[in-house]
Amino acid sequence: MLSDLWFDPSKCFLDNQWVAPLGGETLALENPSNGQEIARIARGNSADVERAVLSARNALHGTWGRTTAAERGRMLAQMGQLVLENADALAQIEAADVGKPLKQAKADAVALARYMEFYGGAADKVHGETIPYLDGYTVYTLREPHGVTGHIVPWNYPMQIIGRSVGAALAMGNASILKPAEEACLTALAFAEIARQAGLPDGALSVVPGLGAEAGAALSAHSGVNHVSFTGSVRVGKLIQAATAENVVPVTLELGGKSPQLVFDDTDIDAALPFLVNAGIQNAGQTCSASSRILVQHGIYEEVRDRMAELYSALRVGPAADDLDVGPLISARQKEIVEDFLSKGSNLAIAGKATLTADLPEGGHYVAPTLFADVPADHTLAQDEIFGPVQVLIPFRDEAEALAIANGTDYGLVASVWTKDGARQMRLAKAIRSGQIFINNYGAGGGVELPFGGAGKSGHGREKGFEALYGFSTLKTVAAFHG
Ligand code: NAD
Repeated sequence: MLSDLWFDPSKCFLDNQWVAPLGGETLALENPSNGQEIARIARGNSADVERAVLSARNALHGTWGRTTAAERGRMLAQMGQLVLENADALAQIEAADVGKPLKQAKADAVALARYMEFYGGAADKVHGETIPYLDGYTVYTLREPHGVTGHIVPWNYPMQIIGRSVGAALAMGNASILKPAEEACLTALAFAEIARQAGLPDGALSVVPGLGAEAGAALSAHSGVNHVSFTGSVRVGKLIQAATAENVVPVTLELGGKSPQLVFDDTDIDAALPFLVNAGIQNAGQTCSASSRILVQHGIYEEVRDRMAELYSALRVGPAADDLDVGPLISARQKEIVEDFLSKGSNLAIAGKATLTADLPEGGHYVAPTLFADVPADHTLAQDEIFGPVQVLIPFRDEAEALAIANGTDYGLVASVWTKDGARQMRLAKAIRSGQIFINNYGAGGGVELPFGGAGKSGHGREKGFEALYGFSTLKTVAAFHG
């Protein structure tokens, strides 16, 4: 199927064509499993963003602006179908680009298809309402697209983040400009080719690859962009918020996390264990909603620690193509950051650690997944986002202490509560500051239907589910006086 999905990685996607970046420069894309260059991508700049905004404006005033909601839905569903048909090829591209084990990359492709199906089906089901008002008036609301939407995405889950963000924006009739991450952008380009093949009119979707400080900054600051969706770090999120404030346009920020799992004495440990570990090591821990803090009540603390440690020592780490449990980190820089955190934990007890085999490819960015025990709740490893396969165990006495620890970081993205006590489940679901709470599970399979977003420094605004469709549209009130 790869041949059907041909695209030129060194180009931008504008007006349904592959065009060279105006600056004429390209950037190297590296395979994190072995450090080798796999492609050169366009180094888009502000001039390319300018072209994309113009093309998006033209689309809104042209064919795309006149496309009915039902027809948009059909096109998105067709994109979902094409993604599914090419899921194996997309998974291979993603595995080589991001370094994620093939099975995890395939799951991302299937999730992308599901986003397109979901938002395709929803496109003609979001509408305004009539409002009873004064005598002689008819009042109704119109739900309309923002106009041009900018989407700045990171490298860790390109397909899933494009699906939830661009999928919802297109469903509502926006013309979207996508700026993928410079570390991994091949599936973003494949997505553009799929949009072209599904019949999206010129300018409905543009892709401008490039550096964050160049193409990304230009996109977030452009006065012709009416909404910005950003997924990435807190540091850059603040820059994006400042840039959009200048133009007074809405912004969705999906930032980092330090998500806890609270494990009470009455937990079914057998059921919990795979969630406790997988939530920390999936995608080598490079997941915004990774569970990096495991809070365990005293009565079962030692058992949970020892059983998690056993699972850690069985973890297999290797190149994405080998499809093991854990792949490499995205880059040498990311490895350096994670190793720096590991050295800050040198005074802590290590409960469990995976072993790196001697045959790992040279040039790959591998780190041994590590589980720390008895970590004080205010330690940097328990407070700061590491973005690597590292988890900390924190013991607690009672519900009040668990809640204080859970809420005791700057973040609030995801949390889970493990207990059979229904009243405690309800109390904690309300009291924990977090965008999503899971009870006796973690992540609920990632459902595209489930609104997602953060509190505190994890960001604001919601993507996924129907909620995203409200975020990617605006409401106009019409009050007609007819006597
Ligand atoms: P990053 O913020 O460095 O980069 C994200 C994107 O922003 C990239 O496309 C990058 O090119 C762009 N960018 C960088 N500088 C920019 C600038 N000055 N102006 C405009 N755009 C710019 O983040 P990262 O290192 O790629 O990703 C890791 C972070 O993302 C982690 O903190 C993680 O938690 C977070 N993340 C959050 C979610 C979520 O849904 N909440 C999902 C994935 C990742």
